[in-house]
Amino acid sequence: MRVTVEELAFGYRGRKKVLNNLTWTVEPGVTGLLGPNGAGKTTLLSLLVTLLPVREGRLLIGEHDLSTMAGRSRARRLLGFVPQHFSLAGELTVADTVAYAAWAHGLARDRCARAARWALESVDLSEFADQRTSTLSGGQRQRVGIAAALAHDPRILVLDEPTAGLDPGQRLRVREVVAGLGEERTVLVSTHLIEDVAHLCSRVGVLVGGRIEFHGTFPELEALIEDTSGGSPYGSGFERAYDRLIERVGGHR
Ligand code: ADP
Repeated sequence: MRVTVEELAFGYRGRKKVLNNLTWTVEPGVTGLLGPNGAGKTTLLSLLVTLLPVREGRLLIGEHDLSTMAGRSRARRLLGFVPQHFSLAGELTVADTVAYAAWAHGLARDRCARAARWALESVDLSEFADQRTSTLSGGQRQRVGIAAALAHDPRILVLDEPTAGLDPGQRLRVREVVAGLGEERTVLVSTHLIEDVAHLCSRVGVLVGGRIEFHGTFPELEALIEDTSGGSPYGSGFERAYDRLIERVGGHR
């Protein structure tokens, strides 16, 4: 299922627009949404998962138009969202946490335990099903969040900075899980790390100055960075390459 964004604009009340004239299409597979802190990634994802209202421009989930109430309610069933920060009730088990999420997404009560088992298997956490969530590591908690967003089997999965704050081993594990999920659905992952995009995403959009200023494959993104630097993007580390990228795509505006 495809996500279509047409000339979308959004500003928080009384403030300058965060997103402006944003046009983008997200296809099945894993797509990265790359942009510096404050670029508006969370704002765009919040509009996409119906947590913020679409007032200017169009946003379609498949053919469902989020500016209509009917479109929003149909789209919600097709969406799963893992926010950047979420809390887990520490006294609940992992399985109950995910089963509850499935129920909250509208699954019939008698299907929730099975849906939770399937979702936990998908994120490779089956062996932790009966543990309390308070006993988990950061990477395991992140995977519980993904399982909770997955349990109602959404066509589109949206993850806001899923690797933030994780150590390298945990980051790798979360990336593997997300890559697997992208084989059967549309997955959109926001990140400020080029490294995440390199390992995970078949396509990437770069958000700068309120718009998607670049959209393409990772090799195309690499070529853009190489052009700018006159060398390998990794010679001086991902973060330097990233600064150059932002200069490059945002610089001509
Ligand atoms: P990112 O996810 O790329 O870091 P955000 O979407 O969180 O960016 O923020 C984009 C801009 O909108 C920032 O300038 C931020 O301060 C502002 N912003 C985010 N949330 C709110 C809010 N609830 N009210 C007012 N301004 C906000």
